[in-house]
Amino acid sequence: MTDQLLGMQTTDTEAPGSQHRPSPAPHVVDPTLPARLARRVRAAGDAPRFDCLTPFTGGVVATLPVSTVADVEQAYDAARVAQARWAARSVADRAKILLRYHDLVLDHQGELLDLIQLESGKARRHAFEEVLDVAGVSRHYARKAPDYLRPRRHLGAIPLLTQSTELHQPRGVVGVVGPWNYPLSMSITDALPALIAGNAVVLRPDEKASLTALRAVELLDQAGLPRDILQVVLGPGRTIGEAVLDRADYVMYTGSTATGRKVAERAASRLVGASLELGGKNAMYVADDASLRHAAESAVRSCFSSAGQLCISIERLILHERIADDFLKHFLTRVRKMTLGAELDWGVDMGSLISQAQLDRVTQHVEDARAKGATVLAGGHARPELGPYFYEPTVLEGITQAMDCRMNETFGPVVSIYRVSSDEEAITLANDTNYGLNASVWSKDTRRGRHIASQLRCGTVNVNEGYIAAWGSNGSPMGGMGESGLGRRHGAEGILKYTESQNISVQHGTPFKVPPGVPEKVWARSMATGMRVMKGFRLS
Ligand code: NAD
Repeated sequence: MTDQLLGMQTTDTEAPGSQHRPSPAPHVVDPTLPARLARRVRAAGDAPRFDCLTPFTGGVVATLPVSTVADVEQAYDAARVAQARWAARSVADRAKILLRYHDLVLDHQGELLDLIQLESGKARRHAFEEVLDVAGVSRHYARKAPDYLRPRRHLGAIPLLTQSTELHQPRGVVGVVGPWNYPLSMSITDALPALIAGNAVVLRPDEKASLTALRAVELLDQAGLPRDILQVVLGPGRTIGEAVLDRADYVMYTGSTATGRKVAERAASRLVGASLELGGKNAMYVADDASLRHAAESAVRSCFSSAGQLCISIERLILHERIADDFLKHFLTRVRKMTLGAELDWGVDMGSLISQAQLDRVTQHVEDARAKGATVLAGGHARPELGPYFYEPTVLEGITQAMDCRMNETFGPVVSIYRVSSDEEAITLANDTNYGLNASVWSKDTRRGRHIASQLRCGTVNVNEGYIAAWGSNGSPMGGMGESGLGRRHGAEGILKYTESQNISVQHGTPFKVPPGVPEKVWARSMATGMRVMKGFRLS
């Protein structure tokens, strides 16, 4: 499939004096795929087109149409009509589609991995995390949504005489705007619980994620989702992204904290709910009793997955001083052996950054730290001979508050080392950030690990793992504290946010009416006695 689709050639020749591999020849995408995918975009037949580029070479792999604000309006109109029919179907019926989707995503993983790699430039092993994520989220909500969404009976105002039920009504049409870094995961997983909760969705994936997102949508069509329920528009964030969110009955946004703030303001001004999944400056603490080999191996994945362009990846490594040197021996040996390359295969450890803007940001953070006195323990250079945006996995030490990478998210393959002498110092340092997305704690004593974890101001904390344990635990909520976001994905919160709770209470008899001939004072006293009796029972 790979060669057919992309006409891609790779070579296994090692670059002289390095573990790194050269880039493939420019890709040639089979023109039938983008042409087919373009039909799933709400845009006019003669709409202007934009280039889908591959970071592996910087070359154009396809063109897709750009939607207009009028297209967004039409998408909402069609979605609203379809949503009424969709919401009338049972949750169990909607769930069957997600179970079929689970299988289709796994069956088509080779093709999806090619597209993810091609659009994002990441290594195949990191692209595979996205396939697992989508399958996991689909399965979780297919199995659990009927329970999350079922009507719940509550104790009524007057026991037995008042029957109160909580319903979860769909909000209507949810607007989803996603980032580029996880073209499959971040384009589709937030739409899935919204759909199963009975909403329609208007999806605007990032332009750099469009091919993968459209293929993911096609597979949902194949799984049996009515077409109009999920509308796709493409175009720049500031125009089309904004138009999508400005018409939504609920806003689901993933991106940087700076943009998230503006998105939240716009949603608040319309009194519309919003879930925001934003940036992070995540820390891993390795305590003095940690398994150092395992911690070092996990740190490599946690710092450099998707070349560090992962919101939950680790940018700060906090080491207990008693084990810091031993840990670094394992870690740096492994980092220096990492292979970089543009293969559509499993052979390389890390791929490319996505764009010149990302390369500029990473270079600026490293050069700023270097100029202000930081030591570069590994990496620290771009690798243009591999592709236009490759950058080495980089480890810095001697970071001060004056350096840009101390408090700001780099969102690249750059991690800084900090040494501490106690758990308390590690906790203070890990919490010294405005963000609060993800953290990792390493200790063989899991009670100690849990205790440290509970004191970290982060939405997810992994004990003896970097990020996958929490991310892959789909029944538990995931999201950011502080400036890392609002709301949660996964678990009950990840689906109930797409609903509005409704309280339907049915009254039998007329207990709230003062009976004829009874003085109101007497009636009030008997009500108060009833309240005191109820206090003795754990009923409400
Ligand atoms: P960004 O905020 O610049 O853009 C994100 C998306 O929003 C893009 O598709 C962009 O086109 C669009 N956009 C821009 N302005 C908009 C507007 N006014 N209205 C609507 N949409 C708009 O972020 P980025 O730099 O492209 O992405 C990287 C950031 O995303 C990092 O900070 C990363 O941590 C964060 N991120 C967070 C998560 C998470 O789950 N917490 C996941 C992935 C990425």
